[in-house]
Amino acid sequence: MSSNTPMPPQGALIGGQWVTTQATLDVEAPARGETLTRIARSQSGQVDEAVRAARQAFDGQLGDWASYAARRRSEWLLAFAAVIEANHESLATLECQDTGKPMSQARGDIKACARYFRFYGGAADKLHGETIPFDNDFAVMTLREPYGVCAQIIPWNYPAQIFGRCVAAALAAGNTVVLKPAEDACLSVLRLAELATQNGLPAGVLNVVPGLGREAGAALAAHAGIDHLSFTGSPETGTLVTQAAAMHHVPVTMELGGKSPQLVFADADLDAAVDAVVRGIIQNAGQTCSAGSRLLVQREVAEGVIGQLVERFSALRCDAGEADADCGPLINARQKAKLESRLGAAEADGIRVAARGTLAQGAPASGHFVVPHLLTEIPDGHEVLREELFGPVLAVQIFDDEAEALALANATDFGLCAGIWTRDGGRQLRLAKGIRSGQVFVNNYGAAGGIELPFGGVGRSGHGREKGFEGLRSYTRIKTVAIRHG
Ligand code: NAD
Repeated sequence: MSSNTPMPPQGALIGGQWVTTQATLDVEAPARGETLTRIARSQSGQVDEAVRAARQAFDGQLGDWASYAARRRSEWLLAFAAVIEANHESLATLECQDTGKPMSQARGDIKACARYFRFYGGAADKLHGETIPFDNDFAVMTLREPYGVCAQIIPWNYPAQIFGRCVAAALAAGNTVVLKPAEDACLSVLRLAELATQNGLPAGVLNVVPGLGREAGAALAAHAGIDHLSFTGSPETGTLVTQAAAMHHVPVTMELGGKSPQLVFADADLDAAVDAVVRGIIQNAGQTCSAGSRLLVQREVAEGVIGQLVERFSALRCDAGEADADCGPLINARQKAKLESRLGAAEADGIRVAARGTLAQGAPASGHFVVPHLLTEIPDGHEVLREELFGPVLAVQIFDDEAEALALANATDFGLCAGIWTRDGGRQLRLAKGIRSGQVFVNNYGAAGGIELPFGGVGRSGHGREKGFEGLRSYTRIKTVAIRHG
């Protein structure tokens, strides 16, 4: 790590103070398998204190957040966006080292984090309720109120971006936050929290309890003092967290996994489609909930498209994040072992590896690298078509017509994203309506990560929406006020 990259504090942020914990956790650099630093291992006691501090800040007993008008929250969020921008390079370096992702992608993530604060800063004073026509002797209105204490449990794949997405929206709406970042990568989050407290965020408004999921995460999800819970992570953990929150009837937003298809028709701009298909699966080494991990290609053009993909995949290189290659390592040895075992099983089942990327010369031997894989000749219903592999693995299927393409696209319990590549306007609309997913991208994939666009899942991909104005609304609840004036 470069000597001018400040390391974040090693404690938990509670009520504006960094509190040290009895135990700590080592943080590993996935590109080298070496220890980078240590973080706090918060326990239920720290979670309890953090929830209490967030409640006091919300109720106006700690700091003056409760007295902030929407306009003042907006001013703080906009100013903080500028702070993030001023610290862009050091935050990106932390993100690159901690997650292993290529430096250019880490830079993009910090930029996106700042944009969330800018977007929600701009939106904070534009969120309002409605008046409702009712009986003539009544005036009826809805108020959009913050929930209160928002619990947020986030993953390791996009720590800074997801921090921006959840924290900026919750604060813009007037809530206070207790955030449990992921143990595998959270250095940028801790540094962002430090910058927030150094730049005027009142005590207790943002509390951060680093630690293990089964300890700090479980304690936060089960806490009776939270008013809303937003979780981003695996469907399995999402189920546990939902059950815990249900014990106190706490509303939840679930951003879970995906097995998203890209559908390429014979009439598409094939070069653009191939390019987006490759980028859609190698971004962050495929460790992206919205990764386009399935390619459905029409038979007439399948040979040509697969040929182009073979060339592209064979040229992909993996290296440590600082080298800014196509792919970095996977996050840890466990994820690498899991993916390698699934790839081994796929080959044993007769699935063809049509192409593989390579490890760059000089890439650290101790890194958790898995090179990109292009899989073809896959039996219907095979695990690689159904389960999220969370790595740079693209599974290819061939279809004959639109009806078959739609059936294949929907043959999954997930429903996060889909890409449709065709010039036929009618088909674009039919498929956009027919595909069961939260997002559909036509002749693009991911809409350049637009933070302004609502994002969320269907089925096993989760429910509720983050991002965009819809994300801001989801951190508020409606109160109906009916005034009988006679
Ligand atoms: P994970 O579910 O293991 O962990 C996510 C978070 O939950 C971490 O902070 C972890 O510490 C915490 N956690 C773990 N066990 C817990 C428990 N029992 N109670 C409370 N909290 C607990 O997921 P992961 O492996 O860190 O992330 C990868 C998964 O997340 C993938 O499936 C991916 O698709 C999904 N993901 C989804 C989105 C989205 O926006 N939809 C974004 C990123 C990642």
